[in-house]
Amino acid sequence: MIRPILKYGDAVLHNAAAAVDAMTPEVERLVSDMIDTMYAAPGIGLAATQVGAALRVFVVDVSIGRDPQGLIVMINPEFVERDGMQLEEEGCLSVPGFNATVVRPQRAVIRGLDRTGAERQVEGTGLLARAFQHEMDHLDGTLFVDRLRGIKRDLIVRKIKRLSRAGNW
Ligand SMILES: [Zn+2]
Repeated sequence: MIRPILKYGDAVLHNAAAAVDAMTPEVERLVSDMIDTMYAAPGIGLAATQVGAALRVFVVDVSIGRDPQGLIVMINPEFVERDGMQLEEEGCLSVPGFNATVVRPQRAVIRGLDRTGAERQVEGTGLLARAFQHEMDHLDGTLFVDRLRGIKRDLIVRKIKRLSRAGNW
């Protein structure tokens, strides 16, 4: 089932999410809905906070469904390693219409539980490492806009506020 995606300004997006303590049917449903929602958007990643669930869960598929092995579900993920640096344009389903260049690690290894509750460790480079860092940020209540500085950040925030006031956000 596709769930509505929250936008910048909604409190759930701006607060840290809690760890999942058990693989309940609710968590399984959440994961399944997040996969549907990510592919429908379409996006390459989605965090639980973006659909209003304050839990440490994200889904990523940089192939957007083209590679059957591409889907990664991570529950209670943590970084094992991070190195290097990349600078690329980035966007977010919760900040539609805006893009900015964000500094991210070139390589990231994360560890967490998959949708069956089994431990899984995945290494990502390039776009996948970027997606991991972007989604991990979501679980801590950080959006890519928060990673920007000064004028760049102010400009986006001001435009969002204007759209909000006009009822267009
Ligand atoms: Zn995002």
